[in-house]
Amino acid sequence: MHYLDYAATTPVPAEVAQAMAAVLTEHYGNPSSQYELGRRAKDLVNRSRAVVAGALGCASEQLFFTSCGTEGDNWAIRAALYQNRRVGRHIVTTAVEHSAVLQCVKRLEQEGCSATYLKPDNAGRITAEQVADALREDTALVSIMLVNNETGVRFPVEEVAALLQDRPTLLHTDAVQGFLKVPFTVKTLGADYITLSAHKIGGPKGIGALYAGGRAKPPQSLLYGGGQESGLRPGTEPTAQIAGFAKAVALRLERLEETLAHLSACKSYAIEKLRAIPDLRFIGQGDAPHILSVSLPGYPSQNIVSELDAKGICISAGSACHRGKASHVLTAMGLDKKTAAGTVRVSFGPETAFEDIDALAAALLEHKTTRFPML
Ligand code: PLP
Repeated sequence: MHYLDYAATTPVPAEVAQAMAAVLTEHYGNPSSQYELGRRAKDLVNRSRAVVAGALGCASEQLFFTSCGTEGDNWAIRAALYQNRRVGRHIVTTAVEHSAVLQCVKRLEQEGCSATYLKPDNAGRITAEQVADALREDTALVSIMLVNNETGVRFPVEEVAALLQDRPTLLHTDAVQGFLKVPFTVKTLGADYITLSAHKIGGPKGIGALYAGGRAKPPQSLLYGGGQESGLRPGTEPTAQIAGFAKAVALRLERLEETLAHLSACKSYAIEKLRAIPDLRFIGQGDAPHILSVSLPGYPSQNIVSELDAKGICISAGSACHRGKASHVLTAMGLDKKTAAGTVRVSFGPETAFEDIDALAAALLEHKTTRFPML
């Protein structure tokens, strides 16, 4: 098999699986329990939090575990609106956010908020000036992602943070695709809320984290229950997932330079190989080292994905979360219909080998030469 869909999810390295298995079978205590087994589990959660917080450069108290990136996005947005309820109910975001942000903002519009959705240019870029122009007196929140999950384009979060310095408007960034792919710390980024998800960096699915710091107060709870996560995110801690998340972060940090160099090398190699395919277009030319978006205009991406699937090659048509529907990202970029419909996303990870890319290039070329284009 040639797995080239690391932006959708990643395999868990053996060390991560082992760390999780040890928690499930040996250190299975409930962190709230008062005896040794519970105390050990609590200690494990605390140590894991320190590892993830360390990777962001924040204090452990500013980091809350969540069930996924989607929860972190929803929580940050609602928490910011609650904190800024006296400022207003206007949100500035982009038309190319992940649906975890877009659908949350759409829901808030139904609840009486208003929103401005910034459109990218046809390379997928958004500028800080666009954000500045959209700000209003009643703007409670700007939510702008760090790295777009379809194009790999990095957005100017630092510049937006600088813009908001003297205003009450809070800043959230969905860093699910940027974490440990593009360098940043909470200090360099300057966002008040940062969302992470473990399964994009070799951690398990079903665990993420939300940083709330800067001008953000401890985030108003979405759930009501026990006292876990400082009483702000109740529910018995998923200790195995938390341990797996921390192990994945530690492993990536240990080999960060090497991994990033490998991702960049894979991307450059793929660009070189795919360039040889007649009429193939590169979309967005994203900055993130792990994402490459390409189009075979006229050749529907769903067909490409299924034909490659039959050859054991896994890639995605746009984003894995929008199967079957025209990608809102490509539509917002103003791509013509044929180019948008023919766009596929290839993404790389530490385990990617150049042979995987050779197989991809050969299969795309074969598709292009043996199938009829859509008229
Ligand atoms: N945000 C971005 C940019 C993503 O790419 C994803 C997942 O694809 C998410 C949020 C959602 O994360 P999760 O799958 O952990 O809910």
